[in-house]
Amino acid sequence: MLTKDLAICIRALDYSETSQIVTFFTRAAGKISAIAKGSKRPKSAFDGTIEMFSFGKIVFSDSNKEKLAVLTEFEQQPGFTYLRDNLFALNCCLFGTELLSNLTNEYDPHPELFDSFLQFLQNANERRGTRDEGRRTKALLILFQLALLKEVGLQPILSYCANCKVRYEIRGTRDERRETKDETNWFEVYFSSTANGLICRDCEAGFPDRIRLTGNAADYLTNLKLIAESDEKTLNEIEKVLIYHFTELLHRPPKMAKHITRGS
Ligand SMILES: [Zn+2]
Repeated sequence: MLTKDLAICIRALDYSETSQIVTFFTRAAGKISAIAKGSKRPKSAFDGTIEMFSFGKIVFSDSNKEKLAVLTEFEQQPGFTYLRDNLFALNCCLFGTELLSNLTNEYDPHPELFDSFLQFLQNANERRGTRDEGRRTKALLILFQLALLKEVGLQPILSYCANCKVRYEIRGTRDERRETKDETNWFEVYFSSTANGLICRDCEAGFPDRIRLTGNAADYLTNLKLIAESDEKTLNEIEKVLIYHFTELLHRPPKMAKHITRGS
C-alpha cells in the first residue's frame, strides 16, 4: 500500500553507494524509517540526495511496520539554507530534533507537533541580520521544547505549585514585590523534574531534585507569550532548567545540549 504524507528528514544515513536509509518525521504517520533506493544517483525520484531537514511531500510503502518502509517519491521543497551558514541556529534545530526523535515512537502520529516543528525550523531559518538573533533563536528553541513536552503528554505544570496547587503569582518588578512584602508561597520559586513543574516555598523541602528559579525565569515560564521578549540571561536560565528536565526524562544528557549552553 502506498501512503502519501508531508515529511521532514530527521536522520539520513548512507546505505550503499547509491542508497540511503532515512528517518522522517511525517505529519500523518509520525516518525518512520525508510530506504531510499538510488537516492544518491543523479536522477532519482527524490529530487537528489536526502539531507537533514529536507522537507516536502513523500510517497512510501509501509506494508509491514516491522520492516523499513520503502520511499518511492520525495518532492523536496526549497531547503533551510540559512541554517547552513548559522551554526547556532543549526545547533538549536539539531537539538530540537534530537529531543523530538527521542520522545516520539515510530508510527505514532502527532500532526500538531509536526506543525510546531516545521514552524520552528522555518523561524530559525529566517535571516534577520539583527544583533539579537541568537537570543531570538534561543526563545524559539524554548517554545518548541515546551510544545514538544505538551504534545507527547508531558506538559510541565507552570501556573501553580505542582504539589499543593497554590496558584503562581507573577512577581513582576522588584518594587512591586517590595510592596507585597513577598509574604507569599512564591517568595522562592523552584522547578522539580520529579514533580514535573513549579514548586512553591512551602513544598520545596519534599523535592530534593528541585532547582531554584529567579523571579524573572518563573514569570516568563508561566506566561509563555512573553518569552520572545525575554532577556538573554533569563532565556539561558530557562534553557538550563529545560536541559536538566530533559536529562531526567531521557535518563542521560541530550547530546546536543552542550552546544547550546556553551558560552552562556
Ligand atoms: Zn506548594
